[in-house]
Amino acid sequence: MIRKIVILDGYTDEPAGLGVPPYINVYPRLIAGSAWSIDPGMKIYYWTIDRARENMGEFMKIADSSDLVVFIAGAEVPGKYIGGKPITLEELLRITTLLKDKDKILIGPAARYGFGHGGGSLAVQRAKLKNYFTEIVYGDPEIYIYHLLKYGWEKAEPWRLREDYDLTNKAFIHGAKIIEQHPNHGWNLVVEIETYRGCPRWIGGGCSFCIEPRYGKPIMREPRDIVAEVEALYKFGARHIRIGRQPDILAYMSRKIGEEEYPEPNPEALRQLFYGIRNNAPGLRVVHIDNVNPGTIIYNRMKAIEALKIIIKYHTPGDVAALGIETFDPKVVKANNLKVYPDEAVEAVRIINKYGSIRGWNGLPHLLPGINLLYGLPGETKETYRLNYEYLKRILEEGLMVRRINIRKVAVLENTPLWLKKKIVENTLRRHSKIYEKYRLLIMKNIDLRMMERITPPGTLLRYLYTEKKLRGGFTAARFPGSYPILVKLKGTHPIGRIVDAHAESIAAKSVTGIIAIREA
Ligand code: SF4
Repeated sequence: MIRKIVILDGYTDEPAGLGVPPYINVYPRLIAGSAWSIDPGMKIYYWTIDRARENMGEFMKIADSSDLVVFIAGAEVPGKYIGGKPITLEELLRITTLLKDKDKILIGPAARYGFGHGGGSLAVQRAKLKNYFTEIVYGDPEIYIYHLLKYGWEKAEPWRLREDYDLTNKAFIHGAKIIEQHPNHGWNLVVEIETYRGCPRWIGGGCSFCIEPRYGKPIMREPRDIVAEVEALYKFGARHIRIGRQPDILAYMSRKIGEEEYPEPNPEALRQLFYGIRNNAPGLRVVHIDNVNPGTIIYNRMKAIEALKIIIKYHTPGDVAALGIETFDPKVVKANNLKVYPDEAVEAVRIINKYGSIRGWNGLPHLLPGINLLYGLPGETKETYRLNYEYLKRILEEGLMVRRINIRKVAVLENTPLWLKKKIVENTLRRHSKIYEKYRLLIMKNIDLRMMERITPPGTLLRYLYTEKKLRGGFTAARFPGSYPILVKLKGTHPIGRIVDAHAESIAAKSVTGIIAIREA
């Protein structure tokens, strides 16, 4: 009989969905919510891996006295986050070995696609982790937990994926309470909200590296169900949300899904969603989005503009529409069935700038594009690096703003078309390792820096920053709780967990040095 569950959150970072502090992803909420929907008296203890590292003795004691330990794992870039350090493979194996007599399950991207070591490497296959767990749940956790608690181990199916959101919506509502146990609760916690799953491009196979189309036809959550979840989260103290768990917010509730790869946006559904959230959780300080498919903008210009205007009306400023452009090399676009060709990508950047660049109350433009670039894909040559750089320069010279350029080496995951070409990826990355570094630095120096100067010119008053971490050299890291927040290095050492406003003083490629202007009492 399961009466006590311990959740160890080793953090998750997926193309659609972030769960590294200050973010909490959907997994802990779904696990807890599913369990509480069956047994409201179930004891559930939520631990982040960082908290467990600090107090391993206490964690082991609680885990040892539980009936089930749920491990959540699957972050792409271990160690590259300000807010936390994802669980490493060694830690995962060590803790599971120490708890060898306990029932343990693994959920999250690591269970579904293998344990990634970050871009440029192959994931450790699921089969290799099998001996360390009672079960590896590569289906949806809320369904597994529901069946496990109701019918026992034999009847719970680790592969089962949701076909609708009925059970999931209930789990989201019941599980909202778990956020109270998150170490960032009460200060800069950002709750990742899911609106749908699956990529509308699944009908054409989708991008070669991506796991999202493998879910098949997208299934959507109704606006009223998402609003009800946000309302529940709000009651338990959530003040920052990111509507980030979907491959393309503009395709939410599109009536053309299943017919077109770039379905026409449904502005009315977006209005219901965003207006409903603001109306039912009126004190939210941050409402942000994440991914936007540039193809949806290009192929549905007028409707996409209407949809962007609705988002800008109801969200909060400092928001980022991360565009999965991946490359400006047409040969790579073609070889990997990517979304847009280079000139189309620039046009999407232009459109978002046109409507989103107006500044809001926190000193930042309302909505700016982010650009994701991916290296190591089949078709890549040295010319790819030059082309990417040239197009970024063009965007800069046009006077446009890009909030961040995310440069990554592709991670080859199980069950993607790229898995069959993993040798090509390995060879490409090996061959291009020097040029990769060269252009990464060039972009940082000549593009990122200039963009940052445009977004936060010296003197800008940046409002609502949370002090997060002491840095070397007598600085304190502070950030907005939201989408791709700018790192503000405050001069001096300041107490952690406080809200401050700061003037931008000097600008670097990846951060801004600031001086505190106002400190919240
Ligand atoms: S558009 Fe491409 S990268 Fe984006 S979710 Fe679909 S398949 Fe994945």
